[in-house]
Amino acid sequence: MKHVISIDVEDWHQCMVPDYRTWPDYEDRIVYSTQKVLRLLQETNTKATFFVLGYVAEHHPELVAQIKEEGHEVASHGQHHEFVYNMTPDDFRADLERSTDALEAVTGEKPRGYRAPFFSIVKKNWWAFDILSEMGFDYDSSIYPVFNHRYGVPDAPREPHQIEAGGGHLTELPVATLPLGVNLPVGGGVYFRAMPYAAIKHAIGRLDRSGYSAVLYVHPWEMDPEQPVLQGLPRLFKARRYLNLDKTEAKWRSLLTDFSFGPAGDVFREQIWGETNG
Ligand SMILES: [Zn+2]
Repeated sequence: MKHVISIDVEDWHQCMVPDYRTWPDYEDRIVYSTQKVLRLLQETNTKATFFVLGYVAEHHPELVAQIKEEGHEVASHGQHHEFVYNMTPDDFRADLERSTDALEAVTGEKPRGYRAPFFSIVKKNWWAFDILSEMGFDYDSSIYPVFNHRYGVPDAPREPHQIEAGGGHLTELPVATLPLGVNLPVGGGVYFRAMPYAAIKHAIGRLDRSGYSAVLYVHPWEMDPEQPVLQGLPRLFKARRYLNLDKTEAKWRSLLTDFSFGPAGDVFREQIWGETNG
């Protein structure tokens, strides 16, 4: 069973500082941290999907070119890491167009997939799928079928499924969960950083044996323990945000060795779209 490893490419501060106009005031570590991920993928002979912010592509086109040259899939994470449900449909379309242009300028191809910042496509902004479909995206990976205060569609299907939208359809690739009474968010993030590797391996092993391709995610900043600590964060948020950053890389090295991974576009090519290679 092949699973999906996805990397959400945003710098350490870009998921915490809402006003992108102030981003240049913060230390720029995205090239350093993303190259750490790229080295790990190379060492474990793994190809991945990188959901890249348009802002990152505009400021570091050479980094995005490197991701593509090393054989990975480049997909979109929007332009400025804003909650989609806080945007108007017109704002969302503009955000998508700008980020798509920024990626295409580097790769020469339109991104096929999209992941919303903060998994912020939920029931109240389902219209986002119409726009993604109209803009020609083949798949989305923004739904996390869990309860969370910021995101989640707890009753969404856990497995890949089609969503009718925008006069056509697109494929939804939900982030991995384990159904244990409620769906446990085993796709990455703080779950991975809090749990010992044995527990992560057990969870992914269960998905593996159920014949289900799990979509997992990680951020470059999760492998960068030397990143600055943002001042003024609420205590609990800060504890979660900076938890075990020095252990992420080793856990992923084990996971990439113990299971088989590929980019979303490849893993689901035959399973969902009925396409074959070549
Ligand atoms: Zn993000």
